[in-house]
Order: sequence, then structure tokens, then C-alpha cells
Amino acid sequence: MALHAELHRHLGGSVVPRVLWRYFQRQNQELANPFPEYQQFEDFYTKPRNTLEEYLELHTLVEKVQTIETLPYFIYRLIRGAYTFENLAYLELRYTPYLRTPDNLSQSERIDLMSEIVMTVGKATQQNEYPIVTSQILCTHTRLPDEVNRAIVDLAIQIPQYVCAIDVAGGDNNYKERIDEFIKLYKYAREQGVKTTGHLYETPNGCHPELLPYLMRIGHGIQIPLKYPELLKEVASRGQCLEVCPTTYFKTGTLDDITQLKTVFDKCFDAGVDIAICTDNAGLHNVRLPFEYENLLTLDVIDFRELQACQDAAFRHAFAWPYGKRPQEMLTGLLKPESIVAEAFNN
Ligand SMILES: [Zn+2]
Repeated sequence: MALHAELHRHLGGSVVPRVLWRYFQRQNQELANPFPEYQQFEDFYTKPRNTLEEYLELHTLVEKVQTIETLPYFIYRLIRGAYTFENLAYLELRYTPYLRTPDNLSQSERIDLMSEIVMTVGKATQQNEYPIVTSQILCTHTRLPDEVNRAIVDLAIQIPQYVCAIDVAGGDNNYKERIDEFIKLYKYAREQGVKTTGHLYETPNGCHPELLPYLMRIGHGIQIPLKYPELLKEVASRGQCLEVCPTTYFKTGTLDDITQLKTVFDKCFDAGVDIAICTDNAGLHNVRLPFEYENLLTLDVIDFRELQACQDAAFRHAFAWPYGKRPQEMLTGLLKPESIVAEAFNN
């Protein structure tokens, strides 16, 4: 039995198309009307976009329906699927809590409601029926004012039982003019003991070396091995792990050739930089974690030994995995295969 850790998955992009389509059919006629047949919806929802911007637009469709009332509905289905079909033992789920509050309220009312959202998500992820160790990463956002982003970091400080880290989202080509603001936020988070990751070096315009030292893991980071391999040495020495989400780069038009992805893995392995393979948006892409693994193997991007190294790295760099090692090591620690075989022979 292989059990996996997923470190980079957006709550919005985690809803698989069939669950979302059914939800629209049952609850939201306005959104259901353009897609009377499921297949039409799947085609629309999962088709590749030309740019990261266009791709991120799609998230707003899901954000609109993920409210405090409906979040438990979506999360129950997410955890059920992740346990049953993906063999996840560990999951870090990320989202911007502010964007789950009603947009007709004032900014301060929306800020006040954020803690309720975090608690609702936290309770919904803890299910005895489908037990996965789960924690939340709260995303600050390039489209939100500094005051809101600071409140998001404060929330991460206040609710450690449900939140393990912060992130910055909203397209990494939009940080440039606000980079100092985000550096301050990240410094503050680190001082307060909050762990950090951030969408950075995903696209050619999203390379901001000033922010890099404040991240414990790098969301994507693929432009480092591709365009700035001279940075790999310091990334390795800081022990920063890249969260590589293979399908994303082909859905957003960031990469168009699979050999580029091979370069990413090869250069990182050579430089001693860890990679955790992640889905980013398993629902939106309709590609779950085991299929990300399988695609990389069949396309000869990595081999089985390298896959295992990445799977180990995911547990090692997990922000809230309490056991330190991969579950199968824990299992074989209890039941040594050789002793089972020896016992069988003795009987
Ligand atoms: Zn992401």
C-alpha cells in the first residue's frame, strides 16, 4: 500500500467537474443552464487556457459557490475522493479565506468572518470516515489590499490547530510593484513562527529573487532550473523544496514541451534541490495525484527511483505531518516483511 502526501492543492480547483456540475444542477440554475449535459461542462471546465491569468479567472467561478454554508458539502466530497482514489495520507489545502466571505459586506465585516471560514474548513476536513491528516495554507492575494493580507497572516498565527502556513497567490507576474509589501508580510509571518510557501518563479514574469529567501517551500519555482540555474545552489542550501505541479504548466501555457519539465527535474536532482510532485488543481485539471506520478513515468520525465525520492520529499517538507517519515516506513517498522516470511516458513 502506497500512501501519498499532497502539498499544493487549491480548495477552489480541487472540486472535480462532476461534483461541481451536479451541484449546479441541484442548487444553482443560473450556472447550470449553459451546460445541460455533463460532458459540455467537463470540456469547458478542463480545457487548457492560453495564459495564467485566463486560467485563474476560472477559480472565481468556484469561489462564488464555496460559501460558509456550502464548504462542508464540497470538502466532504474532496476528502472522500482523495482517500478513496488518491491514497492520500496527508493533505495541505490552500485558499484565500477572504474570497469565501459574501462580497456585499464591508471589508472589515469580511475580515471578521474569515476566522469562521477557517474553522468551518478545519472541522469539515476532520472526518473519521475518511481519515487524512489535513492542514490549511492561507493564501494572501495580489488582488487584495495590504490590510486584508495582514489579517490573513494574523489568522494563520491565531489558529495553528487548523493552519500550518501562508502563501501568496493571484498570478506571480502581479507582485512586482508590491514586492516590498509581501516581503514585510513574510518577515512578519516567519517572526511569528508561521511557515511559508509562495507562488514564485512559476512564469517567466514571476521571478522575484527578493522574496525568495523568506519562503520555506517554493510554489512551482520551475523557472529557477529553467532560466536561473545559478540560484539552485542557494535554494539547496536553504533546504527549500519546489512544489512542482506538472499538469498546470501545460494548462496555463507556461510550458509547451515535456522536455522542459525533464530539465526541471534533472537540474534539481543534480543540485540536491528537493521536489514534491503536486496537483495544484486536481479537480479543475481532472488529474489526480497518482496520475501526475504516472504521467511523469510514462513520459520518461522521471524514473521510479526518482519518483520515490519526490514522494519521500513530500512527507519530509510537509508543514504539519506529525510523524517525520512516510507511512510505509512506519508500517514496515511494525511488520518487517522478512519476519513475516520467516514465520510462514517455520509454520
Ligand atoms: Zn497554486
